[in-house]
Amino acid sequence: MQCSKCTILACQENDLKKAPNRCPSVDDQTVFDEARKEYEKPDIRRISQTAAHVEVTGYMKWPRVKELIVFANKMGYKRLGIAFCIGLQAEAKVLTKILEKNNFEVVTGICTIGTLQKKELDIPDEDTFSTAEEVGCNPVGQAYFLNSKETDLNIVVGLCIGHDINFNKHSKAPTTILIVKDRVTTHNPAAVIYSRYYKQKYFEIKE
Ligand code: SF4
Repeated sequence: MQCSKCTILACQENDLKKAPNRCPSVDDQTVFDEARKEYEKPDIRRISQTAAHVEVTGYMKWPRVKELIVFANKMGYKRLGIAFCIGLQAEAKVLTKILEKNNFEVVTGICTIGTLQKKELDIPDEDTFSTAEEVGCNPVGQAYFLNSKETDLNIVVGLCIGHDINFNKHSKAPTTILIVKDRVTTHNPAAVIYSRYYKQKYFEIKE
């Protein structure tokens, strides 16, 4: 059973006697026993507790930026890092001002930080907009930069797919995504999921 297609949701009701066949909550119990142990770590537990507080307190009232501020305050974070794409520098600037206004120290790193040329990564000319001499994105450099500044929390603003993966993999601080880049949908990838036109056009899914 795929959770995404399940209509029973016995896990949510805390009644696994009603679980469908091949329910992971039943079949993979050892996995979830292991996961439960992870919450014994104070930092993981605190993040979960703070997430619960923000979810309930701001439910249907606070936009994500407000949630981010309340979450970071309650966690006691002082220095926030922003890893942003050059295409969203204006958004990163506004976010920097908002966070500074809320008394955070903000460190920002643009995707082209460190001037990494695409040829250094063996990216061929056909996968560039000009030649492999051009400067590409340096998400590992962004992460290393923010790591060196000992940020308490990093915020991703519009990194490209793949670059976001490499950033998350190398960021020492816990990382949250504020803006997911989608050049076609004004950074709202869920638009494709909500739109029957997109679903039909790209994936031939009809409902
Ligand atoms: S864990 Fe089991 S009950 Fe819950 S959504 Fe997945 S399949 Fe359904």
